[in-house]
Amino acid sequence: MRVISVLGSTGSIGTQTLKVIKDNPEDFRAVALTCGSNIDLLYEQILEFKPEAVSVYDPDKALILAKRLREEHPELSVDVYSGEEGDVICATLPQADTVLGAIVGFAGLKPVYEAIMAGKDIALANKETLVAGGDIVMPLVKEKGVELLPVDSEHCAIWQCLWGEEKENLDRILITASGGPFRGYSRKDLESVTVERALKHPTWKMGGKITIDSSTMMNKGLEVIEASHLFGVDVDRIDVVVHPQSVIHSMIRLKDGSVLAQMGKPSMILPIMVALYYPDRGDRLLEEFDPFDPKCCNLTFEKCDTSVFGLLDLAYEAGRARGILPAVMNAANEAAVGAFLQGRIGFLDIEKTVRAVYARYEDKNNKEYSVDDILCISREAMTVAKEYLNI
Ligand code: NAD
Ligand code: MG
Repeated sequence: MRVISVLGSTGSIGTQTLKVIKDNPEDFRAVALTCGSNIDLLYEQILEFKPEAVSVYDPDKALILAKRLREEHPELSVDVYSGEEGDVICATLPQADTVLGAIVGFAGLKPVYEAIMAGKDIALANKETLVAGGDIVMPLVKEKGVELLPVDSEHCAIWQCLWGEEKENLDRILITASGGPFRGYSRKDLESVTVERALKHPTWKMGGKITIDSSTMMNKGLEVIEASHLFGVDVDRIDVVVHPQSVIHSMIRLKDGSVLAQMGKPSMILPIMVALYYPDRGDRLLEEFDPFDPKCCNLTFEKCDTSVFGLLDLAYEAGRARGILPAVMNAANEAAVGAFLQGRIGFLDIEKTVRAVYARYEDKNNKEYSVDDILCISREAMTVAKEYLNI
């Protein structure tokens, strides 16, 4: 049985993880849950999963939750924590052997880092952790001898294709992308797109930040950097393949020319299961894959037009430069996407902001840093982005 701390339990990945845990009670137990501020859903999750510890990032909300639990369910013995400290306590709980990292943004880095330090296996959805801190996280995973189990669907696909394969046989990674809601748009078309439109992803249902990242193609840029860390290849050995049907979740090409792909319906349930059951396999929870389903026929592939979606090129640049630049790019993007979601800036301002902040740090790249340095630089880059946007 895996005993799991679910970080970000109220989000899209968090709730789907709890579904997998609920459907397989002999295999999994949720011992800790954390969220940013959604205490109503966390309250329901506490009643259902009876964790031993929970944390709410917002300390006022944590107090309200603790009071409600005391009054309405005094029989439950659950410790309620808050802030970054609370996330870390839940991530390092001695009873847990595995941490599912599904916090959004670079806020997920510190708890995951501490969990690795404490010897936990990590099932990782939170790609920003590797984008910002991959050069620290990956060697630490090796040093501590823990498993880093990719949950991001493309990385789960690449990982499965690589099972049993010698690393030297890997030639290239072909990472697929749906292309997002604005595939085929011109730069001019993008000037006037709304938040509502950007949130309508054609194939995946996900949290707000990653859905906007998919519409700018930054999500794929972050994933290229994530893959370069996970699989130890330079970003220039990773190609982005736009595949609007989202049936092939990614491919690898081996040195003899063989191409292996992993396929399935677009659902995160399977990658979550693959990670949590590794090295075994669980029983299928989703409908069977049907190659004759019209949605699975006519699989198509195209290049991404980076003259329209420029953030993908910038991510390659950051992935080549390494050092603090991927973290700077990631943090500026978090600030800009947040502002776009609040309706304070236009769609193309996201790219403009990220480029402007990145340019400020380009000459100051630094390759020697700790996790706390990365968090500090990320917060600073967010502030620079907000100043640039005048918000
Ligand atoms: P989401 O916005 O739906 O959920 C985010 C979760 O993090 C929520 O529970 C929120 O309360 C919590 N949270 C935010 N800040 C926190 C903090 N400081 N401390 C504790 N909890 C905090 O996002 P999501 O779509 O579930 O994505 C989560 C992560 O997984 C992201 O990094 C995303 O890129 C990655 N991911 C998501 C999907 C998907 O299908 N949703 C697929 C691949 C990768
Ligand atoms: Mg993905």
